[in-house]
Amino acid sequence: MIEYSFSSGKELLEICHAAQIPISEAAVRRELEREEMDRGEIMSEMRIDLEVMRESIRVGLEEQQISITGLMGEDADKLMAFTESAVMGREMTRIVASAMAVTEVNASMGRIVAAPTAGASGILPAVLIQYGDEHDLSEDQLVAGLCNAGAIGMIIAHNASLAGASGGCQAETGSAAAMAASALTELRGGTPDMCLHAAAIALKNVMGLVCDPVAGLVECPCIKRNAIGAANAVLCSDMVMAGIESVIPFDEVVTAMRNVGRMMHPDLRETARGGLAATPTAQRIAQKIRNYE
Ligand code: SF4
Repeated sequence: MIEYSFSSGKELLEICHAAQIPISEAAVRRELEREEMDRGEIMSEMRIDLEVMRESIRVGLEEQQISITGLMGEDADKLMAFTESAVMGREMTRIVASAMAVTEVNASMGRIVAAPTAGASGILPAVLIQYGDEHDLSEDQLVAGLCNAGAIGMIIAHNASLAGASGGCQAETGSAAAMAASALTELRGGTPDMCLHAAAIALKNVMGLVCDPVAGLVECPCIKRNAIGAANAVLCSDMVMAGIESVIPFDEVVTAMRNVGRMMHPDLRETARGGLAATPTAQRIAQKIRNYE
């Protein structure tokens, strides 16, 4: 009899190996074991999230998005219009622009799915939905991707943090990239071990990234950090699908990320007192916003 409760990558892999199932299915069975929802209810919740994610990409790309302060907006459109000239290629450009689009919707007080947080809400939808559209994936496959991502996010939340206020931006956009990298790897036929390698590499790539929102608003640098987070996720999945592994196992990377977050000065954890938020330009912007209030 297999128990489906897990709180680390090691436990998750043991379950996947023993039951011969992907991470997405382990995540679903974990929820079923908790007996809070049946399979149909879990799937229907996930489909609703998927729909909101899809709509947030559409709104971000098709409707004018100017943030409440007027500081940010329409950068997703500019990148999308540049698709044919972008060195990163059509598919990656669409993914990155979509990540920006969703976070522009968030900055404009629109509806998004906080996956795992509002500040990092662009990465997972962009990677899943744009990849799914490009490769004709079914809704059920995308729901499986969300379940996979949920398992990774749960493990990070349990052992470290998903919040910029406690762990810096590494915990927020880094975790979102790890979730998206793992989900994308499963959707491409990667094994559970490969998914965790992709998640580990994505987190390693932004280890130490501070949270320094200009004027304390989730606009600058957050929207562009969602862009790089989406690119990070795709790159890590590509590396793993090519046969590359993370030298440091996923669980150890999560612990390292937690420890780095704890070492971070409070000025670098969403207080808008350090990093980019402390630059003269950011200070002028913050003063301008205060004058309007
Ligand atoms: S800089 Fe801070 S507020 Fe902005 S996305 Fe990163 S963690 Fe979130």
